[in-house]
Amino acid sequence: MKLFDAHNHLQDYQPKTRLSEVLRQAAEAGVELMLCNGTSPGDWEQVLVLAAENKGVIPFFGLHPWFLKEGPPGWLEGLESFLLKVPSGVGEIGLDGGQNATSSARQEGIFTAQLRLAKKLGRPASLHCVKAWGRMLEIIKEEKPGPFMFHSYGGPAEMAAEFASLGAYFSFSGAIIDQKREKLRRALLAVPAERLLFETEAPDADAPGWRAGPAGLVEVISAAAAILGRPAEELASLSWANGNKFIEDLTVSVRKEAP
Ligand SMILES: [Zn+2]
Repeated sequence: MKLFDAHNHLQDYQPKTRLSEVLRQAAEAGVELMLCNGTSPGDWEQVLVLAAENKGVIPFFGLHPWFLKEGPPGWLEGLESFLLKVPSGVGEIGLDGGQNATSSARQEGIFTAQLRLAKKLGRPASLHCVKAWGRMLEIIKEEKPGPFMFHSYGGPAEMAAEFASLGAYFSFSGAIIDQKREKLRRALLAVPAERLLFETEAPDADAPGWRAGPAGLVEVISAAAAILGRPAEELASLSWANGNKFIEDLTVSVRKEAP
């Protein structure tokens, strides 16, 4: 069974020596593809190196809404140059109306600039959204991005159909293991099967008692299987196919840009 971890941050493992053990466990669990997301110019090089050294790690580069102070002059050009080095996506980017929020105008400007860059280069985008779903919907309608996914989807179940009609994929994290997260379970039930993804957000672990790390994807998919009433194997192959579809244009877009 091949598994697709739609969103993680492998570069954040400390100390770095832990990472080889984590990757070994992931391989044993069948996790063959992982989308590894940078969050600011300070970690893009690490993501690039990790992807170069590990087959199956697909790099994503982006400026996360929590780290906007780390977007010095010229960061957007820097981002474009990373994206042109290798087949890669744009992420993690987005909007956050929660406690780590900076001004919404600055957030929206930076988010939109990155969405436009993804569209210009034909790259998929990995989106973070917390307490900003109304604005997110307006921006997606205006910008009409290429393939995009909501990582660790926490939006209302009622919005899933409209986002799906605009092209969204929805990735669910370890949080669905927590039986108290009723809103998440309803959202999972509302998402169209052909847009469903699963992720671990490693090294973070967002459910009590859950084996974190990319190998923990097995438990995320089992929890989803129980909620959806479908066999875990079926969800594993469905999310593998969906994930590959989400990133299918990566190599093509790089070839097109070559001189
Ligand atoms: Zn993340």
